[in-house]
Amino acid sequence: MIPVTKPYLPPLSEYQEYLEGIWKRQWLTNNGPLVNELELKVSDYLNVNNFLFMSNGTIALQIAIKALGLKGEIITTPFSYVATTSSIVWEGCKPIFVDIDPKTLNIDPKKIEEAISENTSAILATHVYGNPCDVEAIQKLATKYKLKVIYDGAHAFGVTFKKKSIFCFGDISTVSFHATKLFHTIEGGGVFSCSSELIQTMAYQRNFGHDGPEAFQGLGINGKNSEFHAAMGLVILKKMDSIVAKRKELSEYYDNRLADLGLQKPQINNQTEYNYGYYPVIFSSEEQMLRCIKKLNRSEIFPRRYFHPSLDQLPYVDKAEIPNTESISRRILCLPLYYELSFEEVDLICRLIKSVWDNG
Ligand SMILES: *Cc1c(COP(=O)(O)O)cnc(C)c1O
Repeated sequence: MIPVTKPYLPPLSEYQEYLEGIWKRQWLTNNGPLVNELELKVSDYLNVNNFLFMSNGTIALQIAIKALGLKGEIITTPFSYVATTSSIVWEGCKPIFVDIDPKTLNIDPKKIEEAISENTSAILATHVYGNPCDVEAIQKLATKYKLKVIYDGAHAFGVTFKKKSIFCFGDISTVSFHATKLFHTIEGGGVFSCSSELIQTMAYQRNFGHDGPEAFQGLGINGKNSEFHAAMGLVILKKMDSIVAKRKELSEYYDNRLADLGLQKPQINNQTEYNYGYYPVIFSSEEQMLRCIKKLNRSEIFPRRYFHPSLDQLPYVDKAEIPNTESISRRILCLPLYYELSFEEVDLICRLIKSVWDNG
């Protein structure tokens, strides 16, 4: 069986070393030494100032919205994972969907302005598949209209824009370290911000608002993560360079094998160092894509329609006029990509896809 992704598992012995430390200290959670170490090492690895480790990427989004005190309408992308939209609604705000750019698949900044109303408080955009949004155009609009900017960077670990971590843009960036993501801590995620004030607020918020055992700074929730999750991150962080390198090779191998089919791929920002987190391809028709999926499934290969359907189809939001998203979300497919995937397997996947063309 070849799934769309497989969580990377490091050598067990390396994880066990960390477990022994946890057993010695008997400190399991609540801002323990491994959590602190992970926060420092992630910040170091990405060359950013502030990172707070949290229990997942969804609570990170919710805390980001809460920390900025957002109200009313938040402009967002309909082409993302459900958590981007659900966090907005969960925090009592209204998502306003703006269509994507059909080349980059990120929210189209040219269409944001007409969606801004007197009730707009922020823009929440996703760096889809790790491809940076047009952060400069978005910041210009945010400054002009006094809006906050949050980036859902769940896919964007290790990505840079103009040699800076992509997590340095916007007021707050969030990340997910879920097992299916490029870098993972089994479950996990967190927030980045250049504002030490916001970081301080979010640090309180992820720990019930505690300011000492009996005092509270403000409203909080439980967004903490454990020593066990941090340990997994510390082990995997050491392997990240080789994980990304292998994924790059596999992606280029796919590119080569699929070159003559004329499949469209997202246009990656050229001032970017990319992380090869996903391998999405856009077919010319949904029908052709479905035939490929069927063919692959018969050989126990399971690519994933990611993201489909568009988020304005969720039962708790208003439908939107978003033709590019509608068209692309029907035709886009993420092909298997993970560290252990072999070149032979990529060969097989590409041969099966090609056979759909050959048979008309
Ligand atoms: C995975 C993901 C999330 C949610 O992260 P969790 O850690 O699973 O809560 C949010 N947004 C996007 C775009 C994602 O892909």
